[in-house]
Amino acid sequence: MTQNIGLFPGSFDPFTNGHLATVKKALTIFDEVYIAVVTNTGKNALFTTDEKVALIQTAIQDIDHVKVIAAPKMLTVNLAKQLHAKALIRGLRNANDFEYEAGIAQMNKVQDSDVETIFFVADQKYTFISSSMIKEVAKFGGDVSALVPANVEQALLVKYQKVLD
Ligand code: ADP
Repeated sequence: MTQNIGLFPGSFDPFTNGHLATVKKALTIFDEVYIAVVTNTGKNALFTTDEKVALIQTAIQDIDHVKVIAAPKMLTVNLAKQLHAKALIRGLRNANDFEYEAGIAQMNKVQDSDVETIFFVADQKYTFISSSMIKEVAKFGGDVSALVPANVEQALLVKYQKVLD
């Protein structure tokens, strides 16, 4: 039987409860989900790709049918092909996300007309969570325990202790 595989690419700097919720939603549609940590050249990353992969692996360790990979430096649509993924998975929090995401999806469609993007709308309690806001709050000692997996919270504490020391 052919597997229905979805590919969830993102910066995940760091992985949040919003991302985790999107993975769980995707698993209701896909048999297998690949989370691919991609390098977003427009964003200054706090965590290295290897750190992100390790953090996500721990965060999803109790969930079946999810794999985490460091995306090789190639077009996301080509990675999707290589993994035999039927579609890309992305999350939508608000209208800004929609504008941004629609552009990416259309560009991907031009690169490879076979690759569709499926969007999962964030639950209301997660719509305000962004990796950048998490970093901003954690940097100055704010409480992010309800917003990220416990191991990510720990990693943020360690990172910012080092940065602020
Ligand atoms: P990128 O740099 O590729 O946008 P992100 O890690 O910021 O990577 O986000 C990956 C995907 O997850 C994007 O589609 C983004 O809209 C979505 N996302 C981010 N935060 C949330 C959230 N709180 N709830 C649902 N989806 C989210």
